[in-house]
Amino acid sequence: MRRRFPDGYGQLEPFHFAVTRRQALKELDHFIAHILPGFGDHQDAMVRGEPYLRHSLLSAYLNAGLLYPLEICRRAEAAWRAGAAPLNAVEGFVRQILGWREFVRGIYWRFMPGYLERNALDAHEPLPWLYWSGETAMACMGEVLAHTREHAYSHHIQRLMITGNFALLAGLDPRAVHAWYLAVYADAYEWVEAPNTLGMALHADGGLLASKPYAASGAYIRRMSNYCGGCAYDPTVSVGERSCPFNALYWDFMARHRERFSRNARMPYVYSTWDKMGEARQAALREQAEAHLTAMRAGRL
Ligand SMILES: Cc1cc2nc3c(=O)[nH]c(=O)nc-3n(C[C@H](O)[C@H](O)[C@H](O)COP(=O)(O)OP(=O)(O)OC[C@H]3O[C@@H](n4cnc5c(N)ncnc54)[C@H](O)[C@@H]3O)c2cc1C
Ligand code: SF4
Repeated sequence: MRRRFPDGYGQLEPFHFAVTRRQALKELDHFIAHILPGFGDHQDAMVRGEPYLRHSLLSAYLNAGLLYPLEICRRAEAAWRAGAAPLNAVEGFVRQILGWREFVRGIYWRFMPGYLERNALDAHEPLPWLYWSGETAMACMGEVLAHTREHAYSHHIQRLMITGNFALLAGLDPRAVHAWYLAVYADAYEWVEAPNTLGMALHADGGLLASKPYAASGAYIRRMSNYCGGCAYDPTVSVGERSCPFNALYWDFMARHRERFSRNARMPYVYSTWDKMGEARQAALREQAEAHLTAMRAGRL
């Protein structure tokens, strides 16, 4: 591989993926015995140096056909019946597969090929090089991009609320972001990747998959992770040299799309907070967002 693709993205070693049905079944056995009982306990958490936490790492095998969705659900159910895993863990796990995975599959097959062309938020910013290089002073992005390069894996909240959230707030071009997600993960197949990227992360489908954009400021990342402790930026600051880019970009995103999202019944609090800030603060945040984007384009973010 290294000889044929010397400039390819990612690290080949250590290589720990199963590549046969027998190996994949061993991975499933391991998951059912050791990980499933705590599945969901830290589902939305992000911890420095812990790429996997209590996630199953089964998506690549499922998508490649080495494991079958129903067989996995049945194994999880059997673990619950045997008293080896609690109901909340088994229900949460089965819901990911029977619920989310089948749902995004339905979206893809119902709305393709036009789905890939969707760009409801009119986002056209080119993908910054930092997605490939991982070189950034944003500790959260650096951490997730490093896992991605080393393991061809990130768990769902990292994909959605770090790399996806940044792409959403910065107005990155959905087709470019889609091409990136499709290239970097071992489990990436267009039918499952595209609805997650264009629909869930980027809201490019105009709300077909998710009624509200998954947009969050640095406060969310600080609450759900321990990334901010080691960052050059400060999640409690929104304007100035040390301000967390997610903060000003979040408000700029909301201001840019006010007409669309102020009508969203799930988001009234966002605009009441924005309105209370006053014009001077609003202008400072929007200027700061522009400064972050300029830094991003120059490879200095
Ligand atoms: C921007 C973005 C891109 C994504 N691209 C892909 C992709 O290319 N391929 C892919 O399989 N998943 C993708 N996902 C969904 C999800 O992030 C991965 O399925 C999950 O992280 C795989 O890790 P795991 O097996 O440890 O999952 P666990 O957290 O252990 O979940 C168990 C299983 O549930 C299924 N599942 C959970 N959430 C989803 C979801 N939203 N959509 C589909 N299946 C789900 C997966 O098969 C997964 O193996 C993407 C999510 C986002 C936000
Ligand atoms: S301060 Fe901002 S950029 Fe840094 S890790 Fe926290 S959320 Fe990410």
